[in-house]
Amino acid sequence: MARLQPVRGTHDLLPDQMRRHRNVVDVARNVVGLYGFEEVATPIFEFTQVFSRTLGDTSDIVTKEMYSFEDRNGDHLTLRPENTAGVARSFISEGLAQQIPLKYFYAGPMFRRERPQKGRLRQFHQVGIELIGVASPAADIDVIAAGYRVLSDLGLREQVTLELNTLGDPESRENYRNALIAFLTPHLGNLSTESQERFRRNPLRILDSKNEVDQAIVADAPEFTSFLTEESRLFFDNVKEGLERIGVPYKLNSRLVRGLDYYGHTAFEFTTSALGAQGTVLAGGRYDGLIKLMGGPPTPGVGWAAGIERLAMLMEADLAKQPIVALAPLGDLATEKVQQLGEFLRGNGFVVDVGYSGNLSRRMKRADKLNAAVIVIIGDDELARGVAQIRNMETGEQSEIALDELTTGLAQYR
Ligand code: ATP
Ligand code: MG
Repeated sequence: MARLQPVRGTHDLLPDQMRRHRNVVDVARNVVGLYGFEEVATPIFEFTQVFSRTLGDTSDIVTKEMYSFEDRNGDHLTLRPENTAGVARSFISEGLAQQIPLKYFYAGPMFRRERPQKGRLRQFHQVGIELIGVASPAADIDVIAAGYRVLSDLGLREQVTLELNTLGDPESRENYRNALIAFLTPHLGNLSTESQERFRRNPLRILDSKNEVDQAIVADAPEFTSFLTEESRLFFDNVKEGLERIGVPYKLNSRLVRGLDYYGHTAFEFTTSALGAQGTVLAGGRYDGLIKLMGGPPTPGVGWAAGIERLAMLMEADLAKQPIVALAPLGDLATEKVQQLGEFLRGNGFVVDVGYSGNLSRRMKRADKLNAAVIVIIGDDELARGVAQIRNMETGEQSEIALDELTTGLAQYR
């Protein structure tokens, strides 16, 4: 019998948390809207192949993190661990190739069976963007600039660092791969078992290892940048110059390879030191090979995804709610009248809470707990005179006001 607990690594979003969560989504949606990105949503589950073929069979996600299940008809399905593959699948199955360039924004839950810890959940949420169909570095610059502006508008500009790298074109990666294999061969026995497996299948992934011994070994590995083809170097120079021109500061990090196999050229992460080991809040890069790999027309793409929970943790503890107007009727007639009054005020854009029961002090307590900005007290005698008492909950100041002037009298609380 399952205990009445949320599943490990999942969490409820109660109002305080949800407000912060929503704020991240709203800010991200608005900011990327300034760049022309439009919101889309793809299904939360897809055929397993959508992920297993594209994320690469050596990625952490595919080897151990996917929530997969067999449907009753034998279909193999997986809860999406990320959204780029889903967007690419949609690009192909919806036949969107004629409509490029496409700029998409998404927000929603993702699922990965990781070891839960602070900032690492099994159901978490991401916002992200994908710019599909543009091969030029101008797209990389726009995409990174949009990410930077989202973080800035969330008030995190001073807290994050943009780390930037290039993975070059396939030829650059092949050159580097050979050099890395030559470098790692003498160390093979000391690598973690996982990295020994990566060595066979995709040695670049060892640079991404979170194992400390692996990290110490790769610290002396050759630098990617010295293996770039002329074309790839030029592309990267363009991205860097573009970022400088628009004033987006970055730090080069040649060890940044990103978790997924389909990335090439630009790879980047915005990191913070404020979250311990889970310091990456927004990460992305260019994935020119992805759509072709999935069986679509060769189509370049670049994008990022940001972890909403990690961003929400960095936000100020409390976000201002819209001020609440508490209505406190005292007496039977007033109780009837106040429901109508509540509807009238809501129709005029106020957030209204009507106390359901209790004497004045009970209602005051409730208004306090709600953090109401103002309480409107109407007793039967006030009703008879066509007035109400309004009391500012912060200052305690109280005044009488005619009922038909209520919207004016409450204007500051809208
Ligand atoms: P990490 O190195 O932290 O495992 P990743 O490379 O797996 O990250 P991406 O796939 O690039 O992460 O996802 C983009 C962002 O989504 C991350 O930078 C992070 O903010 C967030 N994220 C990823 N996995 C989780 C998780 N399990 N719980 C919470 N947030 C996550
Ligand atoms: Mg991960």
